[in-house]
Amino acid sequence: MSPSQPPVTLLPFAERATSLAPSATLAMTARVKDLQAQGIEILDLTAGEPDFSPPKCVEDAAIKAIHEGRGRYTAAAGMMELRKAVAAQVERELGISYDPKQIVITNGAKIGIAQALMVMVESGDNVLVPTPCWTSYPEMVKLAEGEPRVVDCGASLLPRVEDLEAARDERTAALMLNSPCNPTGMVFPEQLLREIGEWAADKGVRIISDEIYSTLTYGGAKHYSPLQLVPELQDTSVWIGGMSKAYAMTGWRMGFLAGPMDLAKSIAKVQSQLAGSPNAISMYASLAAIENADVEREEMRQAFEARCKIVVDALSEMPGVDCPNPSGAFYAFAGVRSFLGKTCPDTGRKVESGDDLVELLLEADQVATIGGSAFGAPEAFRISFATSEEVLRACMKRIAARLAKLT
Ligand code: PMP
Ligand code: GLU
Repeated sequence: MSPSQPPVTLLPFAERATSLAPSATLAMTARVKDLQAQGIEILDLTAGEPDFSPPKCVEDAAIKAIHEGRGRYTAAAGMMELRKAVAAQVERELGISYDPKQIVITNGAKIGIAQALMVMVESGDNVLVPTPCWTSYPEMVKLAEGEPRVVDCGASLLPRVEDLEAARDERTAALMLNSPCNPTGMVFPEQLLREIGEWAADKGVRIISDEIYSTLTYGGAKHYSPLQLVPELQDTSVWIGGMSKAYAMTGWRMGFLAGPMDLAKSIAKVQSQLAGSPNAISMYASLAAIENADVEREEMRQAFEARCKIVVDALSEMPGVDCPNPSGAFYAFAGVRSFLGKTCPDTGRKVESGDDLVELLLEADQVATIGGSAFGAPEAFRISFATSEEVLRACMKRIAARLAKLT
């Protein structure tokens, strides 16, 4: 540019980007990794990711696929062998029968949910989001130019039909359901899911049923899908699953969705323009896992069950902490309302919210967790028990001691 020319003026970034909140869960996990890289020892209860390695057959299948030159584009909705395997698994485990063409393989469940919203939500529509909710739901709805409508679950941490109905209007395009739930660990009871499902079918509200934690339930809790309990929903609604949690394959980025044929095709069309096709090597690895890794999946579930008990037992012995027992996923969501307004005598830090407590625990005890505001519940904080029993025991001790000191 010559000095005589006026400076070029660029238009600002789009509002959809500037108004977007970053993922608080990923941000906190990254912050912990930074601190650890500086040599600071942090006990990490932030991560929503299993600490196990994936089953051996997954690694073998991926290496074999690489050596066989299978790292090529596939159909936008994913390779048919895997779509068939997912359909068969959904039939076996949930009793829902889908044509493999109704299954779309996505690069992680996260983008699957976002693509489903892009198809289902017209600008100006709203989406009901029972809260506490996974931090990404409201932002994804906004990216789809919809309005996220928070529906507070209250003390039970379970959504109520009357509250959903009060929030609904003629522009309600969808309801986000997530059982087992991130961040609460609640597994929604069969009867409640049936009631919500019947209400949604009756009112013409589509459900996005995020069942990514479906196999991770504890203490006899049983997972149900609303699409299995109210089969009419299979004509309107979307089931979401994936490899990240059950098979410890977070970084492999493999998610699945199923929906009525027109919806599945529309979502695949969006995917064809955005992702192109899913990661081919991960698809071969996922196929191997679905066909051969039931035993390893169950072993990991049992390890999570033991960890869940450590956390539940410890929380129940902390006076003032309010935490309905989690029975799924790998999170406990502890309410700390009775501590708000108190101060830590060691650091002088006043605790006005769950987020403040999280900062205090990080600063004073080197225990990292996630503040509840990321999940729409600022008077709580989330503990991930996707870590070793030893780390969990140490953390629970430190948390108990810190809370007991607050005055
Ligand atoms: N849904 C929920 C509730 C989650 O916690 C996660 C974890 N990131 C996902 C979906 C997405 O998982 P992924 O994209 O790794 O398949
Ligand atoms: N879902 C996990 C969590 O809540 C992983 C991070 C993310 O994608 O949000 O921690």
